[in-house]
Amino acid sequence: MEENVNTYNRNASWLTKDKRPIVIAGPCSAETEEQVLETAVRLKKTGKSDIFRAGIWKPRTSPGSFEGVGTKGLPWLQKVKEQTGFPVTVEVAKASHVELCLEFNVDILWIGARTTVNPFAVQEIADALKGVDIPVLIKNPINPDLALWNGSIERIKKAGVKEVGAIHRGFSNLGEKYYRNRPQWQIAIEFMRLNPDLPMICDPSHICGRRDILQDVGQKAMDLDFDGLMIESHIDPDNAWSDAKQQITPEVFGKMITEMKLRHDFEDNPRLQSKLEQLRETIDHIDEEILNALSNRMTIVREIGQYKKDNNMTIYQDKRWNEIIEKSKEQASKSGLSDAFIIKYISSVHDESIDQQAKIMKKE
Ligand code: PEP
Ligand code: MN
Repeated sequence: MEENVNTYNRNASWLTKDKRPIVIAGPCSAETEEQVLETAVRLKKTGKSDIFRAGIWKPRTSPGSFEGVGTKGLPWLQKVKEQTGFPVTVEVAKASHVELCLEFNVDILWIGARTTVNPFAVQEIADALKGVDIPVLIKNPINPDLALWNGSIERIKKAGVKEVGAIHRGFSNLGEKYYRNRPQWQIAIEFMRLNPDLPMICDPSHICGRRDILQDVGQKAMDLDFDGLMIESHIDPDNAWSDAKQQITPEVFGKMITEMKLRHDFEDNPRLQSKLEQLRETIDHIDEEILNALSNRMTIVREIGQYKKDNNMTIYQDKRWNEIIEKSKEQASKSGLSDAFIIKYISSVHDESIDQQAKIMKKE
């Protein structure tokens, strides 16, 4: 589209895997010009932030919540750029947002979790981005669906956007109490394995939904070799118009990043890798033994399946399953394994055992 010319003259690549960590900070929402500017100036003072974020249009779960100041907030971000030199990033959820952001020289766009779930919305954004040279960050969808996340990345890349990055902000989960959005790190790790060239940023603010565990979650992301962090910061967190519980002042943010330990994968250091290799060989051997044991277990499972079929017995038997759970928990506590892990492990083994026996039941 001819009119989509981003007039901001970019001479830097902000989303690069060479700069680690890439740190994005700023309020959940732009509320007033003073709040936006003061947050930006105080963040600049910490020297720990690279990019300024602020939500202008806020897709909220419930109607009646603050839904953003809208277009009038965009000139405030231009002032942030002038006064601090920060590149600025804004969430877009439809084509008109993209057009307005380009008009007001927003530097980086991000697509929020409630938009990534919707292929029509993502495609609309992708179409509005055709021929535009602006970096785009794509948050994971609210549900733990890796294919949907990848699909959105693909749509944006297909529009010709060269600089694309991902943001891991956790997944909503009914009954979850500790996190606001459960991190399910394994999904982010699988995403990184599939997209090794995409910068991956963690958003501890939306994972945690509270301040007290932000540091731990941010550190964990860095230890999982994430490329950066997006942190919500507000000059008066308790009175923020959105996401008050998870925001921190610029000064607390500065301290948080200062205290963060930056570790490296050192994959190209043979001296460090050789000791690891020895230990990993032992692990590989143990994994092989576990798999052999599991395979032996399944042989017996199938024998039991045949027996149940011959005697018209149900596959699932309540008493037996309870017995397995109790026994596993007892063993877990003796061997220093967590209850949560052992339940996950044994449930997965049980699931496979049921499938194997169901196959036998179906056979003529
Ligand atoms: C946000 O970044 O303020 C936001 C709305 O996040 P998410 O899309 O991850 O819920
Ligand atoms: Mn928020």
